[in-house]
Amino acid sequence: MSPLPDFLRPLVISGPSGVGKSTLLQRLFAEFPDKFGFSVSHTTRAPRPGELDGKHYHFVTRDGFQDLIREGAFIEHAEFSSNFYGTSFMTVRDISQTGRRCILDIEAQGVRQIKATNLNAVYLFISPPSLSALRERLRGRGTESEASAAKRLATALKEIEYAKEGAHDYVIVNDDLDRAYDLFKRVALGEQIRSDPLPPLDD
Ligand code: ADP
Ligand code: 5GP
Repeated sequence: MSPLPDFLRPLVISGPSGVGKSTLLQRLFAEFPDKFGFSVSHTTRAPRPGELDGKHYHFVTRDGFQDLIREGAFIEHAEFSSNFYGTSFMTVRDISQTGRRCILDIEAQGVRQIKATNLNAVYLFISPPSLSALRERLRGRGTESEASAAKRLATALKEIEYAKEGAHDYVIVNDDLDRAYDLFKRVALGEQIRSDPLPPLDD
């Protein structure tokens, strides 16, 4: 049996908070409104200004989230920066029935869990050019308190350690946005690209 073309496999993107994942995704969905289906996760975190329930996330209470875990609703779920996040079976199934490529934006614990399923996904890591650039972007976005930004930056190191293990099929360094988007688009459309080298990220 010949392997599935990459375009028919779900695409899992991950990378530290503030690296530019949502920015890249937004551009992709604007350029190709009919090709992709975003896996809308459930989360217990509060919506940011402009975020819509059902579009960016399904915003739920902690009790609601626990109920969903008990019901077996999630393919994977994880605690990140004091909030819970999870991907439901229903979301991924609904997208697969549309013929669009399913794209998941999840953190490293979720990536490990998805890898243990039969989802047969392609894994893409978005890396910052440096830790100082990441710090600047996260703070520049203006969505996090100082404590939340510090927590997210500490967790970023774990995401980076996981990428250093070679866990992903592709690495793209989001330095220049246009350059990173061009590579991202090619991976999303099912092309096999040459990964960027992972920067040292020790600054
Ligand atoms: P994530 O979804 O990974 O948490 P965002 O997409 O919200 O990250 O991006 C975090 C911040 O960094 C935003 O303010 C965004 O405009 C900015 N940003 C994204 N890509 C770049 C880039 N290549 N260069 C500089 N700033 C960027
Ligand atoms: P944010 O709060 O910035 O939207 O997301 C924080 C982190 O949670 C990001 O790394 C994002 O990829 C991850 N995330 C979003 N949805 C899910 C999910 O359903 N499962 C897991 N494991 N992580 C998620």
